[in-house]
Amino acid sequence: MGIAANIQKLKEEIGENVKLLAVSKTHPVDFILEAYQSGHRCFGENKVQELCSKQALLPADIEWHLIGHLQSNKVKYIAPFVSMIHSVDSQKLLEVINKEALKNNRTIDCLLQVHIAKEETKFGLNELELIDLIQVIQQDKYDNVRIRGLMGMATLTNDESVIECEFEYLKKQFISLKENQCKSNPFFDTLSMGMSSDYPLAIKHGSNLIRVGSTIFGHR
Ligand SMILES: *Cc1c(COP(=O)(O)O)cnc(C)c1O
Repeated sequence: MGIAANIQKLKEEIGENVKLLAVSKTHPVDFILEAYQSGHRCFGENKVQELCSKQALLPADIEWHLIGHLQSNKVKYIAPFVSMIHSVDSQKLLEVINKEALKNNRTIDCLLQVHIAKEETKFGLNELELIDLIQVIQQDKYDNVRIRGLMGMATLTNDESVIECEFEYLKKQFISLKENQCKSNPFFDTLSMGMSSDYPLAIKHGSNLIRVGSTIFGHR
């Protein structure tokens, strides 16, 4: 099947209430253009340099999401155009995003990345750090960032019960924040979880933004 057909099939499967982010990392701009020409506008990359070079070559109405770990000294390169940053995991990073967004006269949508997997290597906030950062956000004025919700990556395992447990945990965090600390933030509406291997489980546990690469573009 082709890229356009893969996207079409996925969209039918997930329905209108779940947003599909096509993760194009490592794939050439031709692949992105093929998806674009079929009507898709929402793409994700995990490296700043790759994101910037692709953005420069592709149509301006693409909605670009940064999904990978972000160093604060690189925020300035994406601040002029990025739609959403999924990987905010420190106050320092948030401050820099706010500063660079202001310089560009923009407001940047951000998700707080929460560590839900068993693997040590994956980035993200633990429960305590999440609550602390939310508190900081409420006290300080980050006028040029909009906290849109949470992002998480489940453990890479064949054991579906482990994955479901992790997604369920993140959903509970999300709902709790939405009903309490983030109650006055009308933009807190996004739960980004699920990739090619686990998006059906993620949706079952409340995800409304899935990040899918290989199912659309093939193996990297
Ligand atoms: C690569 C990546 C994805 C997509 O992975 P696939 O298995 O190709 O669907 C999703 N989220 C993040 C953070 C990624 O780095």
